[in-house]
Amino acid sequence: MANVAAVLKVKVAPSSGKGIRETRKYTTYCSACGKAFSPTQKECPLCGNLLKRKYKATG
Ligand SMILES: [Zn+2]
Repeated sequence: MANVAAVLKVKVAPSSGKGIRETRKYTTYCSACGKAFSPTQKECPLCGNLLKRKYKATG
């Protein structure tokens, strides 16, 4: 029985070729101005509108 358990414990390699991305890239932009700003910005320096995040779809 021990041998069977050992065989079943064999790791199954992930077949999906997609790797896990550590950091998600995104840009912040003002929906009013349509301008992009640094992700550290929370409000639009031009109109004071709340910035929105837009994740970059890579791949
Ligand atoms: Zn703005």
